[in-house]
Amino acid sequence: MTDHQDADAIVVGAGIFGAALAYHLQQLNVGRVVMLDAGEPGRATSGSGAGFVGYWTAGYMPIPSTDDLALEDYGVRFYRSLSERGKPIDYRGGGSLFVATSEAGAPRVAKLADHPLAPSGTRALDPLETAKVTGNLLSADAVTTAVLHPGGIQISAGRATRALAALVGDEGVDIRPGTPVTRLLVDGRGVRGVSTSAGDLRSRTVILACGAWTNHLLSPLQATVPIARVIASRVVSPPSGVAETSPTVMVPEWNGLWLREHRGGITWGNTDGYAPLSEYADRVETGGHPQVKELVDAMSAALGPRLDVLVNGHDRSVAAWTQGLPCYTPDGRFIAGPVSEVPGLHVMAGDNEAGVTHGPGLARMVADLVAGNAVDYVDPSVYAVDRFERGEMTEEEILKAAPEYE
Ligand SMILES: Cc1cc2nc3c(=O)[nH]c(=O)nc-3n(C[C@H](O)[C@H](O)[C@H](O)COP(=O)(O)OP(=O)(O)OC[C@H]3O[C@@H](n4cnc5c(N)ncnc54)[C@H](O)[C@@H]3O)c2cc1C
Repeated sequence: MTDHQDADAIVVGAGIFGAALAYHLQQLNVGRVVMLDAGEPGRATSGSGAGFVGYWTAGYMPIPSTDDLALEDYGVRFYRSLSERGKPIDYRGGGSLFVATSEAGAPRVAKLADHPLAPSGTRALDPLETAKVTGNLLSADAVTTAVLHPGGIQISAGRATRALAALVGDEGVDIRPGTPVTRLLVDGRGVRGVSTSAGDLRSRTVILACGAWTNHLLSPLQATVPIARVIASRVVSPPSGVAETSPTVMVPEWNGLWLREHRGGITWGNTDGYAPLSEYADRVETGGHPQVKELVDAMSAALGPRLDVLVNGHDRSVAAWTQGLPCYTPDGRFIAGPVSEVPGLHVMAGDNEAGVTHGPGLARMVADLVAGNAVDYVDPSVYAVDRFERGEMTEEEILKAAPEYE
């Protein structure tokens, strides 16, 4: 058998995970990197992402974790630096604002102010201050209390992914859109490359960053990872004079409402517009999007009247909508690192709907592991692929086990 290698590393998938990984591999000079995508970079789930990047582990996401916090801080700094380099990612500061609209919802939000992992500058706001900091996007009358993380940022997730892919392409990564990987090439010594629609590519290092389609390539190896695919919906409302300086807004008591400025209007969603993919169709074309309008209608009906009160007369009607497929894990942690039974094969998966925030830091960690470097900024065992038994859980069981937001 020939020992010719087409690449020193092959990255499968050019969403935010894959593009950030290609960037960090290149920074480490690992050699020739090829990044393949079935479609176009940043057009799958990353293209639907809402672009909130913040310190979620400081009391908002269900499990506090200094490792996740380190990834979050890295993500904030990473996007800021991309923006400072002139990359078109629609970067904005403004912070992350957590809001309660009732006495019942207030303790959940108030405790963020004293959380042990609260980022610097965290402060509680009264209703008038809340309205002011949002440029009157929120009505003071609808707010009970709020907490601001001033360091949170916002970007366009799709544009940032595409800008990152363009950057790594300019710097030498060989990007091949429209090239689905159909199977992994594996022999007794480990991974040997990939089969694609355009022929085989040989490499002893392959990293899967395939989002919701990861297990399609792992299942023939009996090496699936426990991820449950969920349809998540995001509405875009018409321009209504919303200030660009407004922080991103989260209302935990309204089934996790998230809302931000988008082209002068708002973009928003909550779990009323979510459902397990298996409840609708078990398959979405590789790199594609679900199109389940009834979820958007249900979300709009449930949330609309409340939004009318909260957003101070701004238009919250549905001008457009998009859906993507975040993937949840049984313990709420990402799945990233080597697949022990197939030497040379690595995975980045299980984004827990927070991959835009954590992707750059996670990619840095995986790139270091691929390069054989020590990792001292997070504990890689927290994210290790091998912490789970292979193929043990159904998607339904995974979602049941996944930690819930309080
Ligand atoms: C409505 C919504 C709002 C969200 N909001 C936020 C937010 O505010 N903040 C945040 O941090 N996260 C958010 N998320 C989550 C975030 O979008 C995801 O965590 C992230 O985009 C996942 O990136 P990925 O690279 O894993 O997946 P993807 O972007 O789906 O990329 C995977 C890529 O792999 C390719 N691929 C798959 N299989 C193959 C194959 N066999 N061969 C070749 N290519 C293949 C696909 O074409 C695709 O381009 C949101 C998600 C949704 C849907």
